[in-house]
This record gives sequence, structure tokens and C-alpha cells, in this order.
Amino acid sequence: SKEEKSPELLRWQGRGTTRNLREIVLGRCYSYLAEGHVELGDRDCLKIWESLKAAFIHKNPCNSTTEDYQPLMELASHPVPCNKSLFWSRTYDLVHLYSKSNRQFLTLEDTFLGYMLDGLSWCGDPSAPGINYESCPKWSECEGSSVSVFWKMASKMFAEAACGVVHVMLNGSIEAGAFRSSSIFGSVEVFNLNPDKVSELRIWLMHDIGGPQSDSCSGHSIMKLRSILEKRNVKITCEDNYRPVQLLQCAHNPDHPDCSFCT
Ligand code: NAD
Repeated sequence: SKEEKSPELLRWQGRGTTRNLREIVLGRCYSYLAEGHVELGDRDCLKIWESLKAAFIHKNPCNSTTEDYQPLMELASHPVPCNKSLFWSRTYDLVHLYSKSNRQFLTLEDTFLGYMLDGLSWCGDPSAPGINYESCPKWSECEGSSVSVFWKMASKMFAEAACGVVHVMLNGSIEAGAFRSSSIFGSVEVFNLNPDKVSELRIWLMHDIGGPQSDSCSGHSIMKLRSILEKRNVKITCEDNYRPVQLLQCAHNPDHPDCSFCT
């Protein structure tokens, strides 16, 4: 029929709930457990899916709260060993390439919770069937959008759990500066590091191969991060183009002039 599909669904600017969300979350849950994360012990994937679904189904997707996600967080959380936490901002591809090649480091997306939901979209709708597959609010569309409330909460927990020497990979090719106070790293993670547990934050400031060198360890944005953390009694160090990560960038761009080190 020419009839419009679910005309009563709310319309948003962002992409809708990922098709087959249930199967994807369950599949990722079972694979993570099968990958030998023995430290997790027994986890109930069905229960985890049910608690995610209960957090948003039938609800207005702009009114999500941390309470909605509390049960999911409790079912999926696990400790992260000291010195392993790796934060990032504007370096999504590179940081995960690196964390996959060096198991010494763990990003939020390498933890159980982050692994299950990375890259997925979901939101509810007050009318049946309670899940909106057509559209979901963008982060900027409302404060409490389902996905942004989830990631802010997961990021806060990941930062609170960090201990020892922690790392962050920032992007020195961003014009607005490598450290942005409005990012999740700058607004959530930095303020939830516990100075009693975290001895030092090491910054790796990476430039895109062939990209502009807009910022560096001596630039204003890093100075700002330094002053925030010094006030919070966390030591900070910064390294431009940390070699092990740069070599990985160069493995993908072997012939680029930025990668000819031996001249
Ligand atoms: P970023 O600017 O690179 O954003 C990372 C991702 O978060 C983006 O791809 C986008 O999906 C989303 N995002 C964050 N703020 C947004 C906004 N205002 N509008 C639209 N989308 C937004 O880096 P960031 O903000 O510093 O977040 C990265 C840090 O926070 C990491 O350390 C990670 O632990 C955590 N985090 C992860 C995710 C994820 O999707 N895996 C999302 C948010 C935060």
C-alpha cells in the first residue's frame, strides 16, 4: 500500500536504531565471552540485552537518564587493570588499531560494555513497537538522548575505574585544538579520574599522516589540559607523535614523505 509506515513515530535527525540490534548485541556479548575473557566469569547475555532494551523501549528518547542504564552498567562492568586504560579523542581509528595490536592497552571499546555497543544506534518511541528504527535524536538534538546518556555514563565509569599511569591519544591535526573541553574526554573523563589512584596521565599527540600540524604538546590546548590536571593533582606528560603509534600509521602509508625517517 502507499500508506506511510508508522506515521505516528517521532522524527529525529540522527540515524535510527541499528537493524537487528538484539542479535548484534547478543552476538557481541557471546563472542567477547568466548574470546577467553575469563576474568568476567559467568555473564548472562540475555539478561544484558533485556536490561539494555528496558533502558529505552517505549520511552521518549530525549528523556534518558542514568537510572535507565544503571542495571546494564552493573551487569556489564568489570575492573580494568592498572596502567592499561587508554582514553582518546578524535583518534577513533588509530587508537583502536593500536589497542588491537598492543594488548597492554584497553580502550572503553575494548571493555565488555563498550565492545557490545560501539558503533550502534538505538532509541525508543512512546508508540508501538516502542523502538524507533527510522530515526533517533542526534547528540546535539537534546541533552538526554539515549545514546549520549549511555556513552557519558560509560565514559564516567571507565575514567573512575582507571588507576596507575593512564594514557590518552589526541589528534594534533584538529584545528580547534587537540584538547577540547567540550569533548567527552575533556568534559567527562578528565574530571572523573581519581587522583588517589591515577599517578600520571601520558598524552600521545598524534598528527595525521600528511595532515596539518595544528597543535602540539607545547600548544595552548595541552597547556589548558595541563592546568586542569595539575589543579587536580594528577601529573601530566606529553609526547608528540609517539613512535610505536606513528609506526602503525606509517605501516598504512609507507611511501608518504612523513614516513621517511632515515634521512
Ligand atoms: P570524539 O570527539 O572523537 O567523539 C567520539 C565519538 O563520540 C564520536 O564518534 C561520536 O559518536 C560521539 N560524540 C561525542 N561527543 C559528541 C557530540 N557532542 N556530538 C555528537 N557525537 C559525539 O571524542 P570524545 O568526545 O572525547 O569521546 C571519546 C572518549 O570518550 C573516549 O576516551 C571514550 O572512552 C569515550 N567515548 C566513546 C564513544 C564511542 O562511541 N565508542 C562515544 C563517546 C565517548
